[in-house]
Amino acid sequence: MALEDVYQRNVHHRGHRAGWLRAAVLGANDGLVSTASLMIGITAAKIGGAESQSFLVTAGAAGIVAGAMSMAVGEYVSVRSQNDIEESDRLLEMEHLKVDPEAELIELQHIYIERGLTPELAMQVATAMHARDPLEAHLRDELGQFDQSKARPVQAAVASAAAFTLGGLIPFLGAFAPTTGQVAVSIVGFAIIGLVITGVASARTAGSKILAPTLRVILGGCIGMAITAGIGQALHLSGI
Ligand SMILES: [Zn+2]
Repeated sequence: MALEDVYQRNVHHRGHRAGWLRAAVLGANDGLVSTASLMIGITAAKIGGAESQSFLVTAGAAGIVAGAMSMAVGEYVSVRSQNDIEESDRLLEMEHLKVDPEAELIELQHIYIERGLTPELAMQVATAMHARDPLEAHLRDELGQFDQSKARPVQAAVASAAAFTLGGLIPFLGAFAPTTGQVAVSIVGFAIIGLVITGVASARTAGSKILAPTLRVILGGCIGMAITAGIGQALHLSGI
């Protein structure tokens, strides 16, 4: 098979899919399940009497904002610390290569031996790598830093807050849907529709089969909603 065909085939490898897509789907799913659970918990607790609709909507909005902020901060901190770790690894590796290039060469040789090369071949490869770009070889083969482009913390924070908000808006809008019976029914209905969307999207980004992962997402979300509904109910019955 020609090299061109191999490249073409590799386009379909899911590993090449940007991690942000997966993060976005997860964030949306987070927003969906937590907002739906929060609102259903409140309806089950039957708080607020006549103002219950406005209380419910306020709580839903507050939950979305709070969750989005928490996602943004968490994402920012995590990306920053990941970048810091990679940066200090890089500096340390540069130092090692400067101080003791011989030992670093042997280190690289051993890495290639562990990956299945004979000692002779491993030394040849390590020597060739050191001749070209020793730092890059150590970062990649010793520390597993493949992507030299750093993730950007602010973009990551904004993206995950936006994804959470988008997901949270689905059950939130359910509270405004015309309903024949209880508002909880339309919140659950909207949430399930949303879970189908995020379930299919997450299965597609993972490149897996659609049905089983989607059912897992729906089931997981429903369990979350059922638990908070149960807690809300219990709080209502206990008169808190
Ligand atoms: Zn090294």
